Amino acid sequence: MQPMDQEQDNTALPILIAPHKTLKTKARPIRPDDMDLVRALTPRMFSAMYKAPGIGLAAPQIGESLRLAVIDLAAGEKPAPMVLINPEILTVSEEWATREEGCLSLPGQYADVSRPARVKVRYTELDGSLRHIEADGLMAACLQHEIDHLDGVLFVDHLSVLKRNMLMRKLAKDQRQKALA
Ligand code: ZN
Repeated sequence: MQPMDQEQDNTALPILIAPHKTLKTKARPIRPDDMDLVRALTPRMFSAMYKAPGIGLAAPQIGESLRLAVIDLAAGEKPAPMVLINPEILTVSEEWATREEGCLSLPGQYADVSRPARVKVRYTELDGSLRHIEADGLMAACLQHEIDHLDGVLFVDHLSVLKRNMLMRKLAKDQRQKALA
């Protein structure tokens, strides 16, 4: 192993920018024999997320079409890292809530997104234990946003076609300007 490779292993993974085929693809469930890969990926996903900075990152965003996501709502201050393997939404509240969302795959783009206000989610942790979480507020939105990624859905897919096209055009323009800069 060359020192340079090791250095690259410690650096954050590049995050795919929309539009990208992998971001629109339904990711496959993680099987027991994927766990070595999952254990190798998660620290690098956290690095990429903290570096961005962001509060959630799904495996498809780093080009791995697997049902895996990381979340840390306390990013920066007291870290509260969560690894979600094969997360599933079990129930959602009838009540909806609207909050502004952004996405590391759509840098610089934000919009109000309406989703169920509360969710119950089941997921597996890195150590293999099955967990249930009931969430509201930012965590409820973040869980739904990340699980959407595993189904090939982006937050802009919850907007009107007009609003979505506007944001996607602005993203493309921003990316072209960034490439030229
Ligand atoms: Zn996202």
